Formats: sequence, structure tokens, C-alpha cells
Amino acid sequence: MLASRLCLATLREDPADAEVVSHRLLVRAGFIHKSGSGLYLYQPLMQRVLDKVRRIIAEEIARAGGLEITMPILQERELWERSGRWALYQASRTMLTVKDRNGIEYGLAPTAEEVVTAYAASVIKSYRQLPVCFFQQHTKFRDEIRPRFGLMRVKEFIMMDAYSFHASEDCLERTYQVMRVAYLRAFARLGLSAFAVEADTGAIGGSGSHEFMIAADSGEDAIIYCPESGYAANVERAVGRIAPAAPWQAPAEPRLILTPGRSAIAELVAFLRAQGYADLGAEHVAKCFLAVALVERGGGAAPLTVAAFVRGDREVNEVKLSHAIARHGGGSVLQLRPMHPEEVRAATGAEPGYAGPLPGLGVDLVIVDQALPLDQPLVVGANRTDYHWVGFVWQRDGGRAAAQDDIVRIRDGDHSASGHRLHERRGIEVGHIFKLGTKYSAALGACYLGPDQQLHPFIMGCYGIGSSRVVAAAVEQHHDADGIRWPMSIAPFQAVVVPARPGDEAVEAAARRIYDALLAAGLEAVLDDREAKPGVKFKDWDLIGVPLRVVCGRALAEGRVELKERGGSATEVPLDRIVAEVGDRVRAAQQALLRAADAVA
Ligand code: ATP
Ligand code: MG
Repeated sequence: MLASRLCLATLREDPADAEVVSHRLLVRAGFIHKSGSGLYLYQPLMQRVLDKVRRIIAEEIARAGGLEITMPILQERELWERSGRWALYQASRTMLTVKDRNGIEYGLAPTAEEVVTAYAASVIKSYRQLPVCFFQQHTKFRDEIRPRFGLMRVKEFIMMDAYSFHASEDCLERTYQVMRVAYLRAFARLGLSAFAVEADTGAIGGSGSHEFMIAADSGEDAIIYCPESGYAANVERAVGRIAPAAPWQAPAEPRLILTPGRSAIAELVAFLRAQGYADLGAEHVAKCFLAVALVERGGGAAPLTVAAFVRGDREVNEVKLSHAIARHGGGSVLQLRPMHPEEVRAATGAEPGYAGPLPGLGVDLVIVDQALPLDQPLVVGANRTDYHWVGFVWQRDGGRAAAQDDIVRIRDGDHSASGHRLHERRGIEVGHIFKLGTKYSAALGACYLGPDQQLHPFIMGCYGIGSSRVVAAAVEQHHDADGIRWPMSIAPFQAVVVPARPGDEAVEAAARRIYDALLAAGLEAVLDDREAKPGVKFKDWDLIGVPLRVVCGRALAEGRVELKERGGSATEVPLDRIVAEVGDRVRAAQQALLRAADAVA
């Protein structure tokens, strides 16, 4: 490829809306072009990288037994109503919809369980055909609340989505493990160090799931992990032990205390300490989170008001709270949001910040975190503006009936069940695997004939990798101050040849010969034939991140050219050795990635 024909579009300035490195560099180096909010055009360089990413992922999923197919992006509403997910995705507004000329409504694929399950039912008749795994790499749409971070969170993206069908849980478990290995192999070949964490199953549903994460400070996910026990979970799901609060000198009887303007916990604690409760801490305060849940009821959705209490030094985990609501009879939660101030006033009769567990608390369901003791004195809101009860014992002093459950957000410094310290770090979710069970097959009546001559719903698994997000994650993991440093397996080109003496015909001819010879040797080379200063060209290729650079310059007179690895030092190589040397380095880099994949357990 000639650089002059590539429509290169490198920029000096960072885009104004770019908060993360990958967004900045992919725009500046000319890989992606913003075409709308959360919408990107893949430029020629990006297309080359994405094709390689897709190919590696497809090879590994096929190696694990996957059969590649292509499903329509338009999915009929009627099909989604049969699984019960139309209402759910409408309530959370995740799905974009369109109507055709006849008024038939479609969702734009956010995922494809319904479509693939209906297909499987039509081609798989007998247990003898199982297991089967279908996959595709196709465009997905999600109406994200906040598209951001470039390719990380967009409305339209490329996902590898795979779906497996089984006649037994054991068989599903085996495929789940095979897919886990396929993912780790794919990420290793892509040059990414990814690790699996326990995950919440979210709107997809199912009984078990793992996410694959790339460690990155810019990541939107928080991960709780324990180096000693190997435990790792998305914070949405993480469980752990919280050190109990030390006892404090509470009054023997609860006291109603005027706490003017002290609606925030830190201010309340400071105020009460100054009033003589010197050993009071935030951990002795019952913090109330008032929320409105939209729950599934009779095929539709209904609002449910909830008060969730945690220790004042902790936060509510809204995902765990949603599961707790379902466990305690509230119904399956489609959506959860904090109450608006006027809703808080209606539920408590007070300004926000004074909600407490007294019978006057007007909500449908009260859930208390298991780390908040109901038999110990607490400071609680009085459901009266500017007042708190001090020394209130929930069970003794007539606290509202409540369910106790695990709804707290675990954090760095808590302990695992085995007593080891938990740590927290941030990550980017690049993939997700789920055990679905019969959720979709039962709803859609997708069955196979078993050895017992009876019809059984398929037992299913599903698996997703954000192929386009993977490109951004690779940049997050591989960059320096000068730009991107692509792993060899996914670089847009393996080597760039730069003639470094503008107007010197001998240099230009030699560069051309080297470039032709690299192509003839099957290497992916680009020749920078543009009319620009060498310094400008070097800056561009560092930004674009091509792993190897061959420079034809002054040393050509002595029969040598310069070879430099991106981010490494330069060496001089004899002209007659350069093609072999580039080839050796490309192969060595590729083989190192393959060895890393083979090392995956
Ligand atoms: P997230 O929690 O980041 O919103 P998700 O859990 O909703 O993602 P899945 O349904 O598990 O996503 O989709 C599989 C994969 O698709 C994810 O692991 C991620 O890599 C990718 N993905 C999901 N949403 C987006 C998006 N809006 N933009 C780019 N990639 C995405
Ligand atoms: Mg996910």
C-alpha cells in the first residue's frame, strides 16, 4: 500500500470530547471518524485492524466448535414478545426500534437469543445432533444512555455473539469451559492480557456468567479480587465480609435530636460528636437509599417504592439490591432509579436526608443490609426535616418490618469469605459468557426429541465479545507518549518503509525496491511516498503505531538501511538482509502471541 493513496488523516490536536487514551489516539491517528453522537465511521486503517481482530476471534470460536452464520439485524417485535423481553428492553430503553411500511415493528439487534433459538428449533430435531454452537460477528445496536469513550460505548458496534444448545447441564458446562479457553486464547493472540471475573447476568438472564476484563484505569467496570484465593468478581456481584462496627456509647433510650441542615452523613456525625457522642462513627448511622423500581407484574411493568438501608460508611449496590427486591417478593426488577426529591417528601414527610425506619416511612418494601445490625443502637432519620433519632434499636424501638439481605457495595479493604483481603481495580469488559439454561427455549417452545422420545427445551449458553471495543482496549493497553503500539497480530501494517531524503532519487528507488520485496515476501508493508519531511512521516507512523519501520537514508550509500521497532531502538541492517530481517521479526512477534495462546490452560 502506498501512503499517498491511503487517505491518511492524522491530527495534531486531541478531539475535544475525548476522555480516554484510545478515543484520543484512534481519532488522532485517523482510525475512526465521528459521524454522529456514539456513531463512528471506520477509516481504512481501522478496517484493517478490525478485520484482523474479527478473524482471530472467529478462528478461535470455530476451533471451539462454533459454526459461523449471519442473522438479520432487524428482529420482529412479535418474536421478542414471545420471550417476554420486548417489554423489558422497552422499559430500559435499550433497544432501538423501527417500523416498516406496513407498520410492522422491529428491534435493531442488541443481541440475538430469540432469533437463534427459533432457528435452532427449526434445524435441530434430535438429541443426537447436540451440542451445537452458532456464532456470528455482526452489528449490534444499543440506545446507550451515555455513549462515550470513542469505540468503548457506542450506539452501533460489532459483536461476536455465539449461542450453544445442549441436552444436559453437564454438556453446557463443558462448552462453557471450552468457550472460556477460546476467549483467553483469542485475547492472547490479540496481544491482550484479559482475565475472567464472576459477573451479574443482567437483562440476558441465566444462572451463571463470567466477564472478561482488560485492566485499565479508564475502565468503566470495578473489579473486586483476591490474589490469595483467586476470587475475582465484577463489583456488581462481588460478595465479601465487612469488618463489624466497634460499639459506641449510645443513650439507653432513643433520643429525638434536632440536627439542623445535617442531611449528609459526614456533617451529621461531626455535629453529633460535638453534642457529646464522641465515639460515634458513620458506621453507626443507618443510611437510607430511597428508590423506585420498575418491576415485572402480570406481563407488564409496575412501579414499586423501596427503602434500602446500609451502614453510613457504605454504599448500596443497586444490582444486588435489585436481586434482593426479587427475592423478597417485589418481583423481577426491570429498572431501578433513586427517588426524585418530591417523591422522597411524599414517602417520608420530610426533606431528603431525614428518612428513617419508623413506621411512617411510606414505601412498599424495606430492605436492610446484613451488615447493619437490627439489635444494636443506631442513628436513624426521623422522617421529619432536621431531626434524627440517636440510639434507635430497630427491633426494640418499633422499626418498620424489613428484610435483611446482602445489598452492600464491596470495596478495597473488605475481606473474602476465606478471610483474605479484597482489592479493587478498574477494567474494561471485552467479553461475557452466560449459562442461560432454558429461559429462551422454554419461552419460545424450542425443543428437541430426547432418548426418552419426549420433547425437551434446549439448555443454552451464550457468549459475546465486543470486537470493536477490543480494538479500543488494545490501544488502552498498548500505547506510549508518541501514539499507538499495535501488537503484531492486529497492526494495520507490519512494516512501513520511509525514504528519508526528499528528492534523492537513489533513496526513493531503494525504498521502492525494499517495499516491493517485502510485499513479494508476503509481508504487509506500506511505503511512505508522500511529499513530507521525514520528521513529519516518523511522527505519523509512531502515532499510527506500525510495529516496524525501515528508513532509507544516508547509510544507503554504504549499503545499509535503518530498522526500528516501534518504541525500541534502531539498528542498521545491510540492504540485502533487510527483507529477511523484517520477516524474522514479524514471525517472531506472531509466534510469541501464538505461544501465549497455547499456554492458556
Ligand atoms: P456493558 O456492561 O459495558 O454495557 P454489556 O454487559 O451490556 O456491556 P453484553 O451484553 O455482555 O454487554 O455484550 C457483550 C460485549 O459487547 C461486551 O462484553 C462488550 O465488549 C460489548 N459491548 C456491549 N455494549 C457495547 C457498546 N455500547 N459499545 C461497544 N461495545 C459494547
Ligand atoms: Mg456484559
